[in-house]
This record gives sequence, C-alpha cells and structure tokens, in this order.
Amino acid sequence: MSTETPTAKLRIGSKWMDSGAANASTPVFNPSTGEIIAKTPVGSVSDVDAAVAAAGDALPEWAETPVVERARVMFAYRELIARHFEELARLVTREHGKTYGEARAEVQRGLEMVEFACSVPVMLSGDTFPQIAESVDGETNRHPVGVCVGITPYNFPHMVPLWMFPIAITCGNTFVLKPSEKVPLSAIRLVELLIQAGLPDGVLNLIHGGKEVVDALLQHRGVAAVSFVGSTSVAKHVYQVGTAAGKRVQAAGGAKNHLIIMPDADVDQSSKALAASAFGCAGQRCMAGSVAIAVGSAAEPLLDQLVGFAGNLKVAPTDNNDAAEMGPVISADHRDRVAGYLETAERAGAKVVLDGRQVDAGDAFLLGPSVVDQVTTDMPLWKEEIFGPVLSVVRAESLQEALAIGKSCPFGNGASIFTSDGYAAREFKRHFNAGMIGINVGVPAPMAWLPFTGWNQSFFGDLHIQGTEGVHFYTRQKMTLTRWFESSSESHHDPVWKSK
Ligand code: NAD
Repeated sequence: MSTETPTAKLRIGSKWMDSGAANASTPVFNPSTGEIIAKTPVGSVSDVDAAVAAAGDALPEWAETPVVERARVMFAYRELIARHFEELARLVTREHGKTYGEARAEVQRGLEMVEFACSVPVMLSGDTFPQIAESVDGETNRHPVGVCVGITPYNFPHMVPLWMFPIAITCGNTFVLKPSEKVPLSAIRLVELLIQAGLPDGVLNLIHGGKEVVDALLQHRGVAAVSFVGSTSVAKHVYQVGTAAGKRVQAAGGAKNHLIIMPDADVDQSSKALAASAFGCAGQRCMAGSVAIAVGSAAEPLLDQLVGFAGNLKVAPTDNNDAAEMGPVISADHRDRVAGYLETAERAGAKVVLDGRQVDAGDAFLLGPSVVDQVTTDMPLWKEEIFGPVLSVVRAESLQEALAIGKSCPFGNGASIFTSDGYAAREFKRHFNAGMIGINVGVPAPMAWLPFTGWNQSFFGDLHIQGTEGVHFYTRQKMTLTRWFESSSESHHDPVWKSK
C-alpha cells in the first residue's frame, strides 16, 4: 500500500485526528479502477472512549439549546448539501461504484432526510389533557435520550448516515457515527459540512473501525441508543449485545425481496421495473428485488422481455463515466462470492438464462446482470441474501402459492406485486410477509417522512428508522400531572386576576 494513500481521520470534539490504534488499516477501493484511494484505521477502544466522552460533554448544553435553534443548523446544512450536490454524488460514485445517476438519487434521498429533520420542532410537541381529574392537568412531552451511536453499511455511504444523525441531533441528542470501513469518505464530508453549518463541537463525532470498535460502543456506559444498518447476522448481534447492555437499539438487517408477476401484469412495464429493481446499484440495495415469482403463464413473456432489456444494459466503470448504466460491485471478493452463487445454482439444476460472468471487466469489480430461471426454495440462491446483480425466477401456479413462498422467507424487508387486478393486489398487500409493500412499484422504499418498516430477520427492535418512528426512537416521553390548589395561590400574594 502506498505511503501517500490518505488515512481517514476521526472527528472527536473540536478536532480532526488520527486513530489512537496502531497502524493497522483496511483499504478503501475505487471499484471502477481497483485502485486503493484511502485507508480506514481499524480503530481502538480508546477512540470509542474519547468520542463518547466528547459527545457526553457536549450533551447538556445542546439538549438545552432551543429546538428551533437546533433545527436552524439543519436548515443551513440542507443548503450546504444542495450547494455541494454534484461533489457529494461524485464522491459516492468514486468510493462505492454506483452510477452517477444512482449516486445523485442517493444524495437527493439524504437531502430529504435533512429536510425532514428541519420539521422536528413540530414533532416534539406533546399531548395535553386539561382537567383530566378535578383541578388536574396532564401533559406529555419528549426529551432527548442522550449520546446516540450510528453504525452504517457500505451500500449507501451518504444516505444511511443521514437516516440517523440529523434526526437524533435535532431532537437534542449528541452523536457518534461509525461508518463502514469500506466507504468512509462520504461520511467524513458529511461531518465537515455539518460543522460548517454551525454545529457546536462535540455534538457529532466520527470514528472508524470494525467489530472491536462496534462492540465497545455497544457496551459503553455513556451510550444511550444505537442505530444500526447492515447484514442480518451483525444486526442480530448488535441488537442482542446492545439491549443486554441496557441500550435502546434499532437494527436493520439484510433482505430477500420478492417481486410477484401475475399473468395479467403489463409485461413491458413490469420487466423494466424488475430489471431496475434487481440490477440498480448492481443489486446492492436492501430493497433490491432478488426473487421474481412468475405466476402461471406470466413466466415466458416476462423472461423474454427481461433478458432482452437487462442484456442491453451498459455495464461499465462509473467513475468519470456518466454513460454507464450499471456499475461494479464493492470489491473483487464480493464479485467472486456473487459469481459463486451462480455456479452452485447451475449445479443444483437452475438455468442461467442471462450470465453476468461474461462481462469484460478490466480492473473494475464488474459483474453483469444475471437472470436465473427454475430456482427452487431449497437452493442457497433463494435462501440467502446475494446482494449482487442476480435475479432468481421462481415459478408458482397461483397467488396463494406465491404468498406461501413469501411466508417461508426468513427476511421481510420489501415485496411487490405486478398486476392489473385490484383484488389480487389487495390480497397481496394484506397477506405478504414483509414490512414494505409495492403495487406495480419495483422498489417500495419509503421516503424520509415514512418509517423504514422491515419485518422478521430484516429488523430487530421496536421503533424503525426514519419518519415519526425515528423521532420517537431518539426521544423519551415525560408525563406530567399538575394540580394547583386555590388556597396555595392565595398564600403567596393576591393574583391580579382575583377579585377581592
Ligand atoms: P455489514 O453487516 O458487513 O457491516 C455493517 C456495519 O457493521 C459496518 O459499519 C461494519 O464495520 C460493521 N460490522 C461488520 N462486521 C461486524 C461484526 N462482526 N461485529 C460488529 N460490527 C460489524 O454490512 P455491509 O456489507 O456493510 O452492508 C450490506 C448489508 O446491509 C446487506 O445485508 C444489506 O441488506 C444491509 N442493508 C440493510 C438495510 C435496511 O434498511 N434493512 C439498508 C442498507 C443495507
């Protein structure tokens, strides 16, 4: 590794600094070229202690800052993100590999999270119940929970951190962000811009690292709440360790999203939506469609159109190449892992009808789109999250059979139906075993104002990320009952309103 490769900095309190850990680091690749563009320090427990201490020191003053002033920092932040929109999108493309168009969409979604955080003052208002008993008034209001932690995955380097700290901070908490070691650069830029927007020192801190750092955060006495987004195995670990240590935890995990195509679906529209869902961001989205269930006669015309459409996607490096329609995956290891699933499926009797392994990749971590037909529910291709550009096609005789397949899936993030039949759509909406439902929509991902409602092994916790559930996660309610006695007011002085 070149000595000139920059190492990601930490932000603790008022300072950008190096990790207190020894020199160990992990590489940050540009997936379009295979080059190492930065190093991420592995981090240390002393980094965690310093960051949580800085967040704890900043907490009392920030929690007492009027919420309109806290929100005003977010208004300024929103303007800065809008002003730096292109730069931020280019950075996402460079460290992640998604196309420039996909990166712009990500920055837009992040911007909307900040816009949502600007409306937190309204959402902190409580309920009042005057005269709930004789001379007694009752009210509730919301208070910050304390120092919050965010641990984020590689696939949305810009958007997922913005799912967390803008809401948490506007609610009056202070924050420690630990981004994915594979994509730390967008997170660093986001922190720089929030400081530029006027955030006081210590309110947002940034550290780096892997399991050791995460485990130290989960067990730290100074931490009140943990937001996590990543794979299911780590989400479950974070939830178990965090809650056992008394923290409030929301942990979003992996997914296996099903797209059901009924025989009466518009074939052209649905095959385009399927291709965009399965191959957008090279399949590295927790809301990507990864299984198409073709019901009855839907299969043949759908496969025809889908393979034609996906086979024509321009698969290419994305850095400084805005013509690319599908980019690389995050690493060479991940590309090989995804390709391995295709081999296993072929051996088990599935048919690769579009083969992404045949792409001309050069040094980029490219894999073209693959469509695999005749997949059955006993194959790893159906059971496991692939997180790459592979769409499995399972055949079913009826909607009931498709619903039963969904029921046996351990994940439960998103699912969509393509149909022109209102009754089938309604049955699907009511009974499919997933938390985010689409009707003729390829990626039913909620916008900032709605919660990200994963079910089953796709989410561990009670209050989801985003929307009002996000605000509730980062606040705790206080209920006050008040009784004023008439006699007690006379004991001080004559109130001006009282006639003698
Ligand atoms: P990951 O689980 O490998 O890493 C996520 C975070 O956890 C990173 O910050 C990483 O440093 C840390 N981490 C990794 N291993 C750990 C361990 N053993 N102990 C403690 N911390 C650990 O996930 P990823 O590969 O970066 O991201 C892809 C995954 O994220 C996919 O499974 C995808 O479905 C999921 N995801 C889910 C959602 C959602 O909303 N449900 C959204 C985006 C991504």
